[in-house]
Amino acid sequence: MKKRKKRAKKGEPQRVTKAVTHIRLEETNLGKLSVLDQLAQVYLALCQQYVTLFCTDELPDSFHAPCLVTSLSERWHRVAIQQAAGIAKSWRTNRANAYQDYLDALAEDKEQEADRTLEAGAKEPEWREWDVPTLQQTCIQANANVVKCEPSHDSTFDYWLTISTLEFRQQLFVPVKLSNYHIGVLTDPKTGKRRTINSSVTLNKRDGAWWLTLSYNDMVTVQTPPDAPVIGIDVGIANFITTSDGKQYGTFNGKLRERQKRDREKRRRKAKLRKCLEKKGVKRLPSTSSATGQRLIRHVRQEINRAVNLCFTEHEGCQFAYEQLSVATMRHKARAMNAYMRASNLGHIPNQVAWNVTKQGIAATRVKSAYSSQQCHVCHYVDRKNRPNQRTFCCKVCGHTTHADLNASQNIAARLYDEELRACTSRAEVKALLMRRHEHWKQKFRIAVVDPPIQLGLWASSETSTDVG
Ligand SMILES: [Zn+2]
Repeated sequence: MKKRKKRAKKGEPQRVTKAVTHIRLEETNLGKLSVLDQLAQVYLALCQQYVTLFCTDELPDSFHAPCLVTSLSERWHRVAIQQAAGIAKSWRTNRANAYQDYLDALAEDKEQEADRTLEAGAKEPEWREWDVPTLQQTCIQANANVVKCEPSHDSTFDYWLTISTLEFRQQLFVPVKLSNYHIGVLTDPKTGKRRTINSSVTLNKRDGAWWLTLSYNDMVTVQTPPDAPVIGIDVGIANFITTSDGKQYGTFNGKLRERQKRDREKRRRKAKLRKCLEKKGVKRLPSTSSATGQRLIRHVRQEINRAVNLCFTEHEGCQFAYEQLSVATMRHKARAMNAYMRASNLGHIPNQVAWNVTKQGIAATRVKSAYSSQQCHVCHYVDRKNRPNQRTFCCKVCGHTTHADLNASQNIAARLYDEELRACTSRAEVKALLMRRHEHWKQKFRIAVVDPPIQLGLWASSETSTDVG
């Protein structure tokens, strides 16, 4: 089990590492950079071998003893092992999370089957084993042992890169000239001085050119007081964000949906054409990737970013609770969308929230999302039938009626300080806990469920309820 990250208190500085990307290495260094090309080839081949090793036979370990043959120096060999261990680690974590999501989805499927709410023709979720990652991009995550990046005292350049090469004791010196944009980013606005950069640098080759990524550490102080009002964030398609105070930000419906439909049609036609050509024995088939699809994803992400930014601007001084989105919840939220879109975009919302809060020093916490959309915010009753349709929430027991996303965001807000719920280790435990609370609620209000109309009147004004727990 992963240990939960400690929530930073107000006034506590948090270290945030920020990357400065797209620094192009000068064309004038062409001869020099071809030496880098040769190095990269050998390096990536070795790195790939370790990635495969760490994803299959052994656990990722940056300190693993070198066990493969290479013409690289010992130091470069270590860097390759470290990079491979990092890649394998995140691959293993992502795979484990995806597998847990699959188990959750399967459990939800079984529940629906049991209470006969499974849609006709719905397929049982399937698990497909993941492939070991293959390194497709030329990317070298180097440390100071192999690539030194030092400020230049010569006035024409900003930095000098000193790179160890394949030749024993032969070093490559590459000057770096920053653009005005990069100079701006690397200048501390408080002191007006150049920031101190971290000793590790990344080298990328894209479109025939080499690019450098630098990074620096910034201290961000958490500004949110612990008693700041709690805002719950519900993530969805119809509304990217619904907050527990009843505001909505961004939508996938309308223009974006139209664009997605057009793109899907286009891809379908292309696939048909490919099949047709394949039958005729044509060797060079048109590519399956779609440029408009990529543009669409970028566009959706921009829209998401805009929605998230606006949400934070309009809730200054608040703290936030948001969902841990799993594939199971995404399935629930995005029935009508294709797998590709929901995977690439719904998941982007919580990531964007996380990045925004870290950057701005806002307190925000991820909470469990299990049953947040089926649970009644007033009486805690959990039932899929509380959702007569995608938009509406109507509690079968107490009659609490409101917008479905609003009910969910209020549940999410209430979960922020809910330690009992946080301690639950499975969906079943969450459900059992909520149903216990529902029983408690019934006893407290002595409501024998005999006369729904009276209760309807009782709880009609509960939409603005601040009830937590
Ligand atoms: Zn209820």
